[in-house]
Amino acid sequence: MKIAFIGLGNMGGPMAHNLHKAGHEVRAFDLSQPARDKLAADGVPIAPDAVTAVQGAEVVVSMLPASQHVEALFLGRDGQPGLLQSIAQGALIIDSSTIAAATSQKVAKTAEAAGVAFIDAPVSGGTGGAIAGTLTFMVGGPAAALERARPLLEKMGANIFHAGAVGAGQTAKICNNMLLGILMAGTSEAIALGVANGLDPKVLSEIMRRSSGGNWALEKYNPMPGVMETAPASKGYAGGFGTDLMLKDLGLAQENATAVKASTPLGGLARNLYAAHSLAGHGALDFSSIIKMVQKG
Ligand code: NAD
Repeated sequence: MKIAFIGLGNMGGPMAHNLHKAGHEVRAFDLSQPARDKLAADGVPIAPDAVTAVQGAEVVVSMLPASQHVEALFLGRDGQPGLLQSIAQGALIIDSSTIAAATSQKVAKTAEAAGVAFIDAPVSGGTGGAIAGTLTFMVGGPAAALERARPLLEKMGANIFHAGAVGAGQTAKICNNMLLGILMAGTSEAIALGVANGLDPKVLSEIMRRSSGGNWALEKYNPMPGVMETAPASKGYAGGFGTDLMLKDLGLAQENATAVKASTPLGGLARNLYAAHSLAGHGALDFSSIIKMVQKG
């Protein structure tokens, strides 16, 4: 299949690589030269710009930071035309970015008018899941469009859920990430408390992992440096899932909660914790660096 892949960051890079490895004709593009160079080194063909990437593409996959990037890419900005003008009628857009459900719906509506199908398909599983091809996809959109996307999603992920109509994937994703933000902050607090009492963070983490406090952070993403070799914490919090991206998701959850009058006290507190962490200059570090807020010294 001819695929255009736009956005080759921590997640999009390995996802595009997996589609290429599966034998698809991928043409990839990112605004960042280092991101393009990394994919080129993996043998993935790079297009000179997004418009060239989508020429003749049957499927366009996007993996961008936030709502404004997705809207600008497909619908245009400041008088510049959007990519929808260059995408062939009958093509399918799979947007895997985590963005506002309302933005997914807006892009889907314009796409539909142009004869292009659209699904929102945000993911969970982190960069490890993106590299291993074991992501969880949460899809919003028509069932027929999901079935067209499924063979590609299966090359990038292990779990595919149909959450509902366009935007429903995004709603599921912000519920999940609100919980993730809370549990990472809570896990950090518990480890820091144990360490302040002289406990070995590895021993304490293992005790909690096998006890009622067990969770994803303790299983796969320990926030304490040195506990888990593969976790961003042990690599100076580089790569992974940026604090500012977590802050964006917690903000989306709060906007949504306001709209539907839901009570999300811990989600609100978590958003403020990550905002303070970002203000302290840690926005580009992996979100598990939130442990710095509660560590002694
Ligand atoms: P990232 O910042 O590493 O990568 C985003 C890439 O998009 C960058 O390389 C940037 O140059 C590129 N980009 C921005 N605008 C562009 C444009 N108009 N055209 C081409 N390229 C453009 O971010 P990431 O960690 O890969 O996350 C991407 C999305 O996935 C975000 O919405 C994030 O919330 C979500 N997400 C991330 C993770 C994670 O663990 N990192 C997990 C699940 C979901």
